[in-house]
Amino acid sequence: MCIPSPWRNDMRFERREILKEKPAAGTQLGFGRYFTDYMLTMRYDRARGWHDLAIVPNEPVGFDLASAVLHYGQGVFEGMKAFAADGGRVALFRPEENWARMQRSCARLCIPEIPIDALEEGLEQLLLLERDWIPAGEGTALYIRPAIVATRAELGVHASSEYLFFAILSPVGSYFEDARPVNLLAEDTCVRAVVGGTGEAKCLGNYAASLYAAALAQQKGFDQVLWLDADHRYVEEVGSMNIFFATKDEVMTPALVGSILPGITRKSCLELLRAEGVKTCERRISIEEVMEGISAGEIVEAFGTGTAAVITPVGRITYRGKEAVLAGGGKFTEYLLGEITGIQHGTRPDRFSWRKVFGTAH
Ligand SMILES: *Cc1c(COP(=O)(O)O)cnc(C)c1O
Repeated sequence: MCIPSPWRNDMRFERREILKEKPAAGTQLGFGRYFTDYMLTMRYDRARGWHDLAIVPNEPVGFDLASAVLHYGQGVFEGMKAFAADGGRVALFRPEENWARMQRSCARLCIPEIPIDALEEGLEQLLLLERDWIPAGEGTALYIRPAIVATRAELGVHASSEYLFFAILSPVGSYFEDARPVNLLAEDTCVRAVVGGTGEAKCLGNYAASLYAAALAQQKGFDQVLWLDADHRYVEEVGSMNIFFATKDEVMTPALVGSILPGITRKSCLELLRAEGVKTCERRISIEEVMEGISAGEIVEAFGTGTAAVITPVGRITYRGKEAVLAGGGKFTEYLLGEITGIQHGTRPDRFSWRKVFGTAH
C-alpha cells in the first residue's frame, strides 16, 4: 500500500493485515451501514494535551465501563461528506465550517479546544488512503463522522480529563430510504432543545432526547418530528435537518435563536439564494402561520436541509390533528438541490470556493 505524502511527521500509521470487502457496485448503501478499513484517532490527557494523531484500523476499541461519556454523555460529533474529484483527488464541502462548529460544540461541553490543523490534515490523509471507498452512484458520498468522547474512567459529574477523538468513514446512499417527500408531525408535547440548553451544539444527548417523540411519530406513520420551541409555538427544525418554507418569491427559515443547530447546508442555502437576488428571511415562524400559510396556498414549498439529507422536500405537516399538504418540491427546492450537489461533485461553478479539493492529480 502506498502511503500518501506529505505525511505529517507527528502522525502514526498502523497497517491492517486484511482489508475489508467493499460493497459491490450498485449495492443499496443505505446510511451508516458500511465502514471503511481505517479511522483517524487522537487522544487527550492533561499532561500531554491532544497527542498521538494516528490512522489505525477501524476496529472495536476497548472501553472502561466507567468512561465518562457512557454515564454523562460528554461528547460531540460532526457530519461531513467526501466526494471523488478528478485525477484521484478528493473533495470536501466547506470543511472549515464543520471544524469551527466542532470547536464551538466542544466549548459548550467543556471539552478542551481541538487542534483543527492537525485533524484537518489527518482527515485529508485518511481520505486519500480510503479513496477507493468513495461510491460512484448518483446521490452517494463517503460520509465522515468525526466525534470526541470523554474517556476518563471515573464517576462523578465534572468535565473529564481524558478524551478520544475519532473520525470513521461510511459510504452512503440517500439518508431517507426512498426519495419521496417527508411527512412531518409537529410535536406539541416533547421538546428537543431550549434556549440556554445544548440545542445549538452537535452533542450526543440532543439526539437521545429526540428519540421518544420520533418513535411515537413513526408509530403513527410519520417520517420525522417537526420540533417546536419550548412554548410549542415557533418552528425550530427537524431532528437532523434545518427547515425552510417558501412562498412564490420569498424563502424563510427559523432564526438561530440558540436552540437550533446552525446547519452548514442551511447557511449555504441562504447564501446561494441571496446571491441569486431571492428574498430570504430568518425570523421566528409560528406553527400556526405555517399551517395557515400552506392551507391558504401562500406557502408553496417546504424542505429540510442537512449534510446527510442534503435538500429533502416536505410533503405534509400535521399539527394538532390537522394536516397541511404541499406539492413536495418546487423551484427553490430543485434549485438548491441541484446547486449544492453540483458544487459538491464539481459539475457546477463553485463561485464561493466552497469545494476543497486535495491530493495530487495523477
Ligand atoms: C447536523 C444537524 C443539522 C444539519 O447541519 P448541516 O451542517 O447542514 O449538516 C440540522 N439539525 C440538527 C439537529 C443536526 O444535528
